[in-house]
Amino acid sequence: MNYQSTRGGERGVSPSLAIVKGLAKDGGLFVPSEIPSLPLSVRELSELSYQDLAYEIMKLYFTDFTEEELRYCISSAYDTKFDTEEIAPVVKKGEYYYLELFHGRTLAFKDMALSILPYLLKVSTQKNDIREKIVILTATSGDTGKAALEGFSDVENTEIIVFYPKDGVSSFQEQQMKVQRGKNTHVAAILGNFDDAQSGVKQIFADEEYKAELLKQGYRLSSANSINIGRLVPQIVYYVYAYGQLLKRGELSSGEELAISVPTGNFGNILAAYFAKKMGLPLGTLICASNENRVLTDFFHTGVYDKNRPFHVTSSPSMDILISSNLERLLYTVHADEKDVASYMEDLRERGRYQVSENIEQKLDGEFYSGSARDGEASVTIFQCFKDCAYILDPHTAVAKFVADNYSYKRGKQGKTLIVSTASPYKFAQTVLKALKEPVPEDVFSAIRAVSELSGEKIPDAVLEVMEGEVRHNTVCMVKDMKLTISHFLLS
Ligand SMILES: *Cc1c(COP(=O)(O)O)cnc(C)c1O
Repeated sequence: MNYQSTRGGERGVSPSLAIVKGLAKDGGLFVPSEIPSLPLSVRELSELSYQDLAYEIMKLYFTDFTEEELRYCISSAYDTKFDTEEIAPVVKKGEYYYLELFHGRTLAFKDMALSILPYLLKVSTQKNDIREKIVILTATSGDTGKAALEGFSDVENTEIIVFYPKDGVSSFQEQQMKVQRGKNTHVAAILGNFDDAQSGVKQIFADEEYKAELLKQGYRLSSANSINIGRLVPQIVYYVYAYGQLLKRGELSSGEELAISVPTGNFGNILAAYFAKKMGLPLGTLICASNENRVLTDFFHTGVYDKNRPFHVTSSPSMDILISSNLERLLYTVHADEKDVASYMEDLRERGRYQVSENIEQKLDGEFYSGSARDGEASVTIFQCFKDCAYILDPHTAVAKFVADNYSYKRGKQGKTLIVSTASPYKFAQTVLKALKEPVPEDVFSAIRAVSELSGEKIPDAVLEVMEGEVRHNTVCMVKDMKLTISHFLLS
C-alpha cells in the first residue's frame, strides 16, 4: 500500500512518510492507492476488542509499520484516557442508535484520532530516520488545540505549542488549555483574534530561514492538521466497531443496511464512514448534516461548491466551516482523475467555487443525502429528545438527528440509522440548558453541574479536572512575538 496526492503531484509515498509529510508537495491530500477490503467477516470482527479491531483495520493502511509498532500506537492511544472500556459505545435511544465518540479527554470526537496521531507520527519519524524532535505548532479557536495538547502530552521526542486568541475562545476552553499537564506542552494566548493566530502560524511554517535555524537546534516543525492521513484512518475503526456491536446484540442481521448520520464540518468523519463502506461494511445512505453554514448541503444538492456566502456563528461551532478540506479526498475517490481534482481546487482558490461533472454528481447521489439544521431546529431537537428518551444531545449531535429525522420522513421510515454523537453535552452546557428551557447559570461550571443533575449522570472526570485543575500556563504574547515565544518555549 502506498499513497498519492489527490492532485497528481506525488505518488508512491510510503504510509509512514505520508504521515510525516501531512500534505503533499502540490497542496493535495494523500489518498491510499486502493481501498482495501475488510480482512475478516463483520461477524468475526465483531468479536474483537476495540484495540484488536483497530489493529486489523489500520494494518491494511499502514503497511510499513510492524505489528509491534502498530500495537504500541494503538495501546498507547486507546487506554484509560477514555472513560469507558468500549472506547466508542453505541447506545439505543428511541428509534435511533448513537455512536458516542466523546469519551476521550476533551469530550469530543477529535480525541479518537488525536490520541493516536502522536504515536503514529513518532514511529513514522523513526522509520524515516528523522532525528530531530518534532514540534507541533497549531493555532486554535478552541477545540483542536486542546485535543492536540492532550494527544501529544508527554509523548517522547515531541513538543507541542498551541496559540489561541486571548478573547476568542470560551472561558471553559481557555481553562481547559491553561490546566494542561505534560512536560512538553506549551500554551500561549495571543493578543489578537483567531485569524491573527492562524496567519501567524502559517507565516512561521512558510519561513524557511526560521525553520532552518530551528532544524540546526534539533527541532522540526510539523502540524497536527486534520488532513493528515494519520487522522483519517483511525476514524474508520469506530464505524466497523459500531456495526459489529449492533450485529452482536441482534439489533442488526448479517448484511442489513445501516444508514449513518454525521454532523459535518471538515468532512473528515463522514469520509471515514465512506471508506468503511467501500471496504465492505454494509452501510446504507451516508447522511451529511450541516448547520446554517450549509455549503456541503448545497453542494450535494447542486454539484456546485461555493464558499462565497456569509459565515454564520452557530451553536455548533465545530461545524462552522466554509472550506471542507476532506471533500477533496471524496472527489478523488469517486472520480480518480487528478487533473480534474486539481482544477476544481484551483477554481476554489481563485474564485471560491467549483462545479463537479454530472458523472461525479450522479455517483455521489447514490451514496449521500444531505440536509441542514438552524440553531432553533437543533435546539428543539435537544428538547424533544430529552422529553422522549431522557437523553441529552449536544448541539452538534442534535444537527445530525434533525437531518436524520428529515431523511427518515422522506424515505418513509424504513431502515435503521446510526447517529454519530461527536461531543458530550457537558461541553456545551449553557446551550443545552437553554434548549431544555432550564435556567442558565452564567458560570460554566454551575451549568455543567445543572446538566449533570438533569441527566442523573456524574460529571466526567475530564471535566472535573478542568474545574479543579491547577493553572500551569499563563503566557500571553503579541502576534509579532510568536517566533520569540516559540524560541523561549523550546530553548529555556
Ligand atoms: C470537528 C467536529 C465536527 C466536524 O467533524 P469533521 O470531521 O470536521 O466533519 C463535528 N462535531 C464536533 C463536536 C467536532 O469537534
